[in-house]
Amino acid sequence: MTEQIPEVLRDLLTTRYPDDAERILQGFGAKRDTTLRVNRLKETADGLRSELENAGIPVRPVSWYADAFRIPSGQENAIRAMSAYTDGHLYLQSLSSMIPPVLLDPLPGEDILDMCAAPGGKTTQLASLSGGKSNITAVEKDRIRADRLRYNLQRQGATRVPVLQQDARKLDDHLRFDKILLDAPCSGSGTVLTSDPKTSRAFSAELVRNSARLQSELLRKAVRLVKPGGIIVYSTCSVLPEENERVILPFLEKGTLSVIARSEPDLSGHLLPCEVPGAFLVCPDAEYEGFFAVCLKKN
Ligand code: SAM
Repeated sequence: MTEQIPEVLRDLLTTRYPDDAERILQGFGAKRDTTLRVNRLKETADGLRSELENAGIPVRPVSWYADAFRIPSGQENAIRAMSAYTDGHLYLQSLSSMIPPVLLDPLPGEDILDMCAAPGGKTTQLASLSGGKSNITAVEKDRIRADRLRYNLQRQGATRVPVLQQDARKLDDHLRFDKILLDAPCSGSGTVLTSDPKTSRAFSAELVRNSARLQSELLRKAVRLVKPGGIIVYSTCSVLPEENERVILPFLEKGTLSVIARSEPDLSGHLLPCEVPGAFLVCPDAEYEGFFAVCLKKN
């Protein structure tokens, strides 16, 4: 199966991870459960669990996140047919993608910027985590994706979140935020599935280079917009150091940012070796998509 992975990606992984490339390649072939999280703006975790169980859908908890559940993968259509889904009481979302908002820890009253927000999985999670009480601004460059974001926010009841359809690199430099989520566009090297060639068709060395340039520019902007002492969570669904550690390291070396190492979520057994201590570099496997997330403080 792993022969379906683009050679350029295979080569990059083998060079970057001489000891773990095979593990990553195997992870691209893993079958994962469906995962979802409760939308606390509309439902409780206990309420959603009962509703799913009453519909005959078995539910398993996620150790590090009481709002998240695992569901056997064949049940996704049954969930989409439930009113809990159409009314926005839940959001189908990969476990890896739930990590950054948990790290950002949005609190009531805080001014929060989501720089690359569509389709809104993490924006709606931020709203849910803060009970709708943090002041979230969502930015998305692509018009069609921004419309999708507005639709998802509406459906999830996160109605007080303004959406700015613009290039986040061009946001007004006078804006200031307590916390920023930069879930950056990337090559998607962590979300490749051998069962679905679409997930790796666009992958190229050029895409990695272009993504890395854009990621650095977006992070530079985030550093400008966050208050001193404020928090930036940087994340991508790539496992390549070019798009992760090497984007962040210049800011760490200059002392502009430092890593806030978090003990939670406990992802032991699911991580790859990482050049930035305290960052989460998640290996694709039977539970997680490949992913990178790090919590940074502006000095
Ligand atoms: N955070 C989203 C979520 O959880 O649903 C996923 C974000 S996706 C990884 C990256 C998004 O960034 C894409 O929707 C893309 O259109 C958008 N994007 C790309 N370049 C951008 C830019 N310069 N400014 C703002 N958004 C951008």
